Amino acid sequence: MRAVDVIAKKRDGRVLTRDEIGFIIRGYTDGDVADYQMAALLMAIYLRGMSDDETVALTEAMLHSGEVLDFSDLGFPRVDKHSTGGVGDKTSLVIAPVIAAGGVLVPMISGHALAHSGGTLDKLESIPGFRTDLSLSEFRATLKEVGAALIGQTAEIAPADKKLYALRDVTATVACRPLMAASIMSKKMAEGASGLVLDVKVGSGAFLKKEEEARELAKVMISIARGMNRDCTVFITDMNQPLGRAVGNSLELIEAFETLKGRGPDDFNTLCRELSAEMFVLGGAAADVDRGRRLYDEIIESGAALEKMRDIIRTQRGDAKAVDDYDLLPRASQTQRVFSNDVGYVQAIDTEAIGHASMLLGAGRVRLDSPIDRAVGLTVHAKIGDRIELDSPLVTIHFNDAARAHEPADEIRAAYMIGDEPVEPPRLIKAVLPS
Ligand code: URA
Repeated sequence: MRAVDVIAKKRDGRVLTRDEIGFIIRGYTDGDVADYQMAALLMAIYLRGMSDDETVALTEAMLHSGEVLDFSDLGFPRVDKHSTGGVGDKTSLVIAPVIAAGGVLVPMISGHALAHSGGTLDKLESIPGFRTDLSLSEFRATLKEVGAALIGQTAEIAPADKKLYALRDVTATVACRPLMAASIMSKKMAEGASGLVLDVKVGSGAFLKKEEEARELAKVMISIARGMNRDCTVFITDMNQPLGRAVGNSLELIEAFETLKGRGPDDFNTLCRELSAEMFVLGGAAADVDRGRRLYDEIIESGAALEKMRDIIRTQRGDAKAVDDYDLLPRASQTQRVFSNDVGYVQAIDTEAIGHASMLLGAGRVRLDSPIDRAVGLTVHAKIGDRIELDSPLVTIHFNDAARAHEPADEIRAAYMIGDEPVEPPRLIKAVLPS
């Protein structure tokens, strides 16, 4: 078999066999298939799509590119959550300590920033010393000791996704349902969780812009989870505006710490609470979602979640003092407020453009080898439905390099649609499947 023939077959819109998919994924993981060949295949998949059977075969090939973990001997339920990616989505940073504090283990494999969306790993790596590259035995030991471990794809766990994820990021092939399903489910099936909550984002800042597309992705992921005997609940949630107020690695980490201290923005705290409540139900810590919500409130109010966050950071070699002293985190040297040219109500926000502006400041990558600036990002002041005057700032930009701030400022101004009519903010949770 030759990689070039598989690429040509998909380019021509034909269905790949399980063997062809397995051959390509093995070859790419081992280095026999080159980045440029894989980039061509990814674009062919992006343009031509994949059947459900191809998607399942791709997920399985990626899953078996590394170890498939089993933590059933630890004797506790294990539940994780994953989001399809958005702007300001830092829920994992709150959920992992909350769920672990509630007695359910959280073995979490996350990703770096992807296109205009942020990545949990880049946010965690803002903490001085924090290691996301734990070996398999360190992952297990951390999970056993503190109840949660947050790592990235490694050479041992989901290595195919590690390479593909980085390549998709810089080849404009992220927003593709079969690639998203295989990327997410290969990591999630590898990490040894028995239950899974998925947050499929939909809207202007999500990879999927339409609710039907989000429902299609949800369907495929639920069927992959069921095929592997995992409990799985999918939330379809709004991404027509940034979640919370902070966008950018260090800024988002601070907002997550504030939320663990009971001072988070309402929309962000509500989503963390709803996802956590469902995770508590899947993990057997709450009999129903209502009790799960109450457990979330208790764990935040008692300070148990914050203490758990300190434990996780310490165990993963980070400086836990950063939870209380934000000066230990990367901070941008300059800020600039962006104002509107119009007066009225915020009707809509092109949230992808907001994420893109943050990426242009240095929060994300444009090439495989681009360095990330963890200090830069945005504070979002104006959300949908807010009244805007000429002197009300839309966003504050946090930056280090003044030359990189002009383009994002223009992009942010253009992203806001201001009009005369008062509007209601979008509904945060659109559906929970299966209901
Ligand atoms: N999260 C992932 O892990 N993969 C994707 O493709 C999108 C979001």
